[in-house]
Amino acid sequence: MHTDGMHPALVITFIAIGVYLLSCHYHPYMKCKTCNRSKESHSTTFKGAFGKCRACDGRVHHVRFGARILNRK
Ligand SMILES: [Zn+2]
Repeated sequence: MHTDGMHPALVITFIAIGVYLLSCHYHPYMKCKTCNRSKESHSTTFKGAFGKCRACDGRVHHVRFGARILNRK
């Protein structure tokens, strides 16, 4: 064991991971960019036609990667 502590780059990495996980704890979801929270996927070929957003499956949001780690369900 070294007595001079951890490598500064390692400490920064741990802090960055900590901040990211804390952010994921409070804000576990990301807005769906495909439907922009409208839940709908609009057809570009047939005007006015739309369906459930396939990217988020109508949930409007995506669960962040860090949030999946935090609550392993
Ligand atoms: Zn969506």
